Amino acid sequence: MTSFESFAELCARIEEIGGSIEKADLLASFLRDLEEEELSVVPSFVMGSPFPASSDLLLGVGPSTLYDALSKAFGAAPSEVQELLRRTGDVGAVAAELAKKGRSSTLSTFLEGERLTILEVHSRFLLIARASGRRSQTAKMKHLRYLFSEAGATEARYMARLALEDMRIGVGEGIVRDAVAKAFGISPEEVERGYNFTSDLGLVARQAKEGRLQELTIEIGRPIKMMLAQLGSGIAGSVAEMGTAAVEVKYDGSRVQIHKRGEEVEIFSRRLERVTRSLPEIVSFVKEGVRAEAAILDGEAVARGEDGRPLPFQEILKRFRRKYRVEGAAKRIPLELMLFDLIYLNGRVLIDEPLRERRRLLESVADEKILAGQKVTDDPEEVAGIYEEAIAEGHEGVMLKSPESPYAPGKRGKNWLKIKPVMETLDLVVIGARWGEGRRATFFGSYRLASPDPETGRLEDVGWVATGITDEMLAELTELFRDLVLVAGEGMEVEVKPEVVFEVAFEEIQKSKSYSSGYALRFPRLVRIRDDKAVEEADTLDRVAGLYATQRGRNGRSSG
Ligand code: ATP
Repeated sequence: MTSFESFAELCARIEEIGGSIEKADLLASFLRDLEEEELSVVPSFVMGSPFPASSDLLLGVGPSTLYDALSKAFGAAPSEVQELLRRTGDVGAVAAELAKKGRSSTLSTFLEGERLTILEVHSRFLLIARASGRRSQTAKMKHLRYLFSEAGATEARYMARLALEDMRIGVGEGIVRDAVAKAFGISPEEVERGYNFTSDLGLVARQAKEGRLQELTIEIGRPIKMMLAQLGSGIAGSVAEMGTAAVEVKYDGSRVQIHKRGEEVEIFSRRLERVTRSLPEIVSFVKEGVRAEAAILDGEAVARGEDGRPLPFQEILKRFRRKYRVEGAAKRIPLELMLFDLIYLNGRVLIDEPLRERRRLLESVADEKILAGQKVTDDPEEVAGIYEEAIAEGHEGVMLKSPESPYAPGKRGKNWLKIKPVMETLDLVVIGARWGEGRRATFFGSYRLASPDPETGRLEDVGWVATGITDEMLAELTELFRDLVLVAGEGMEVEVKPEVVFEVAFEEIQKSKSYSSGYALRFPRLVRIRDDKAVEEADTLDRVAGLYATQRGRNGRSSG
């Protein structure tokens, strides 16, 4: 049994070390010595998730519950916790400091006791996640207090960060994938293949240890990473590149991956979260309109207003987020389903079949009402016609897909090209907020944006956004971020848990010494909240630097 302390020490070493190769090496040698059950847990732990992303478990511990637990476990006044938070800006540092101080009086019992194991921490997390009903807060608190009271300083540091899902050690999927490959002598591509099929790095690590990675395959009930699109270079260029293309409307909705077995239907969002309960009408469409015993389908959920035009993406996300009073929401914002791919049918994995064959099978099982239209053509004029019509109807643009291409889980490649009006935007992580002034004093009026450094995984800030936010959104955003406040400073600014991604438009990117990224956005404007994107999917500093470079090239040419 491996102790949680050795896991925490690993995290401390990873945090200190700069490069991703070194991080992966450290993790690899740790993974090599773990037992199978521990292997299921550590890959998510080290990325800062108590459970794998594909599970339907949520720890449900907000910052205030955690601070409360820290103060109770270590006998510190709430004001002391707040003061430490202000000073360090890091819940991990706070927990470590409190553990050091609180420990002195009970040192003897602490030393005699058994150390917490990784699996024990995991099973307490399970109890916390499963606590429900009226007394759930009390139960959650009891388990958190127990965990912290058993923890030394280093353990407390990473346990606190893990509970808030913010490890700050710069380990993401890429590093874990490389570490699993190194630990068990397998190629990173093979590990990635297993991951794309199962979305569970713990499962992949376990199979890799047993030498059974090849056996992993697509299964109903386990989400598969979705195939993504590249931005095409205009209609003529894209058609020339692809030759014959299957052309579909690019709907402005939200992605759904649907698993059906008999009468059971499960829906996964783009982030592979289970959203079945929020989308009852999609479940009915599938039950009524898909004639297959077992299938995995890919498509888009789209909302239409009374005038028949698509509703903004934000409205659809309200549906995906809603867990209670779903029926009322479904009446206000009814969704339609547009299926465009078939990944699995009655025992057959279809990913290596060409799109044209998958489409043929999809048409044979799905009602036309829930099928995305498709036109196969090599004529750019015809594509231009479909594009113009799509834009006029309020859709985002069109998708060109290679009819001969396989379904590539988790890949953003040339076989799917998206064509839409160009406006460069960045998907950035919100790491802070500032209270407004005057009429907006009770709302967070501006939001601090950051982009991950691809090398270290650290979030570096690029500025603030305050424009593009309506009054209605202001109230909603304030509500959302209130629960995510990590550190409330003395002034108007707060630090928030990095969990929400904003899509932001801007005039220009500038070099700047004011922000840790070295860049600043000029005139940033909020386009929308990307609830469907995880923090790991935000645009990295490489993209910011790339956009900066192309913009310089453009300016250089126009002035010279
Ligand atoms: P974007 O901001 O453009 O949506 P993205 O990174 O979320 O970027 P892309 O890979 O660029 O996703 O575009 C693919 C997305 O477009 C899919 O995830 C899906 O939600 C949506 N979509 C709409 N219509 C289609 C279609 N016919 N085929 C495939 N994807 C579609």
